[in-house]
Amino acid sequence: MSVVGVDFGTLKTVIAVARNRGVDVVTNEVSNRATPSMVGFGPKSRYLGEAAKTQEISNLKNTVGSLKRLIGRTFADPDIQTEQQYITAPLVDVNGQVGAEINYLGNKEKFSATQLVAMYLSKIRQTAASELKLPVSDICMTVPPWFTDVQRRGLIDAAEIAGLKLLRLINDNTAAALGWGITKLDLPGPEEKPRRVAFVDIGHSSYTCSIIEFRKGELSVKSTAWDRNFGGRDFDKALVDHLAKEFKGKYKVDITTHGRAMARTIASAEKVKKVLSANQQSPVNIESLMNDIDATSMITRQEFEAMIEPLLARAHVPLEQALAQAKLTKDDIDIIEVVGGGSRIPALKERIQEFFGKPLSFTLNADEALARGSAFSCAILSPVFRVRDFSVQDIISYPIEFAWEKAPDIPDEDTSLTVFNKGNVMPSTKILTFYRKQPFDLEARYTQPEDLPGKTNPWIGRFSVKSVKADGKEDFMICKLKARVNIHGVLNVETGYYVEDQEVEEEVKDEEGDKKDPDAMETDKKDDGSKKTRKVKKQVRKGDLPIASGTASLDDSAKATLIEKESAMVMEDKLVADTEEKKNELEAYIYDLRAKLDEQYSEFASDEEKTSIKAKLEVTEDWLYDEGDDTTKGVYVAKIDEIRAMAGPIVQRHFEKVDAERRAVQERAEA
Ligand code: ATP
Ligand code: MG
Repeated sequence: MSVVGVDFGTLKTVIAVARNRGVDVVTNEVSNRATPSMVGFGPKSRYLGEAAKTQEISNLKNTVGSLKRLIGRTFADPDIQTEQQYITAPLVDVNGQVGAEINYLGNKEKFSATQLVAMYLSKIRQTAASELKLPVSDICMTVPPWFTDVQRRGLIDAAEIAGLKLLRLINDNTAAALGWGITKLDLPGPEEKPRRVAFVDIGHSSYTCSIIEFRKGELSVKSTAWDRNFGGRDFDKALVDHLAKEFKGKYKVDITTHGRAMARTIASAEKVKKVLSANQQSPVNIESLMNDIDATSMITRQEFEAMIEPLLARAHVPLEQALAQAKLTKDDIDIIEVVGGGSRIPALKERIQEFFGKPLSFTLNADEALARGSAFSCAILSPVFRVRDFSVQDIISYPIEFAWEKAPDIPDEDTSLTVFNKGNVMPSTKILTFYRKQPFDLEARYTQPEDLPGKTNPWIGRFSVKSVKADGKEDFMICKLKARVNIHGVLNVETGYYVEDQEVEEEVKDEEGDKKDPDAMETDKKDDGSKKTRKVKKQVRKGDLPIASGTASLDDSAKATLIEKESAMVMEDKLVADTEEKKNELEAYIYDLRAKLDEQYSEFASDEEKTSIKAKLEVTEDWLYDEGDDTTKGVYVAKIDEIRAMAGPIVQRHFEKVDAERRAVQERAEA
């Protein structure tokens, strides 16, 4: 079993694996160290990752990128309108979640964001497994700190549908920080001032800053701030808007109404942007953009910086917010580590540096640091791996409250309570106490809906506490509920139980002699003059209270259905791939045998044999380019077998001759 970290990005995904020597990045089937976060659909199969990117421009309507931006969102959310600007397939509602409508196997189909992400992650699992030559199940995966409960649950469901077991969803910067800290041997001791590092990640779509404190063997996140809509794609868009205007004037074409022209301009803008990170100017060349026009232009870095000024002017905001939340000043920050592909823009680096008033640090690999950190996290959590222990303490991103109905017989009871505050440590467990005579319900929700992305519903879940009843004396049952924001940042009411107040006798330790518990009833009974005991009122656990949870997670039967659908599609893809392989094998066999008949097999075949086999090869070849172009795997295998049967005797004679020669050489050597 392998130990894998996945940085699931908006644009691309990086896979890393923890091995005994350290952490390595896994390359994909075309030897790339990152895989496009994209899926596509065709008449015969799906295209996942690299294959989706390859066919993107010719199949825009059936290609879905920016998968991560869709998970856990509703179609009606205004954020989804923004996403539609970057996604070429039409977005639609799929049972209350956003999804895409595409053509697959000749039919119109709708897939939810959870399904689309599951397809992609299933490809990531295959990529990792085929590279590592080991099954892959346990992974840790990155998540933006601003992801809400429903988004996180969506990712967990998708991973499960893809056959993966998520050991941890780790916040982006926390992953970078873990990778940074775990290798450092000079971190301050427990009593010393911690080392304070600001991690800044600027990706394709979002920008986050976290202030993190390090001591030997541990890191703790102090604050995290973000701009959800600030990343490489926004810089690309500034260029695209500029080019669209220029092409309209220069060539009298409107690329904004033309999907393919638009997609090619976006691709070209991304290239220009990258060139401008290293050079003062960059040419733009888009061959036959539309209406047979070869569009060309030239953009200088200065022009580009003017175009992106509105973005640059916002760059300080997350930094300022992170400092304020951590109640720190710029001077308290020892190091500023910058990651994410978007951070390579020189003007942006300048703004960040200006803000902190000190040089930035680039000791982490901007593209791979998050995947590496996730692999470390997986190694720490996985039972199959031993790694130096490093404690990771994160924080809760949005305050969470519980609400309930007033108990009829408790007049002054509140009906809601904020249980987890923003900035509380995560994971975290809180025990809630209720006095009830009947089963009751609790609802969990985000306290401040205005902080959530777009129009996210603040509702998190409903928890029904069963088996509550009054005891013999018509007294309240004291109900205890364990609410936990777990290692993924997901809230659950994990267990319920009830307790009884009981007086128990407890030994009083000498050193505690004068620290009196106000609830304790001291008896001061001295046995043999040495041991002191006292009677203490204690709550003793008497039994369990079952809890029925309704959350945004898929229920088991819905999940089972999606797992079944996904494996059917995996089989379909595999069959298409196998068929293609057999077709290629037949084609290669025809060429190979034809050549050999004139060469090494020549002396072992009669003229009739040669003629009849060559005729067969020719017929089969013609068939391959005609009706045999698209048929089933079985038919290709049958054709290969037919030819093999005809060539069999010749191959045998050739083999016998070669074998006899080999033996002769051997005998001579031994003589
Ligand atoms: P996110 O973290 O927002 O989900 P992601 O993880 O996929 O997205 P990254 O891989 O960190 O994003 O960064 C990708 C972005 O970085 C792209 O917009 C890409 O164009 C940009 N980028 C990469 N190299 C450069 C460069 N040399 N100059 C400017 N931008 C670059
Ligand atoms: Mg990223």
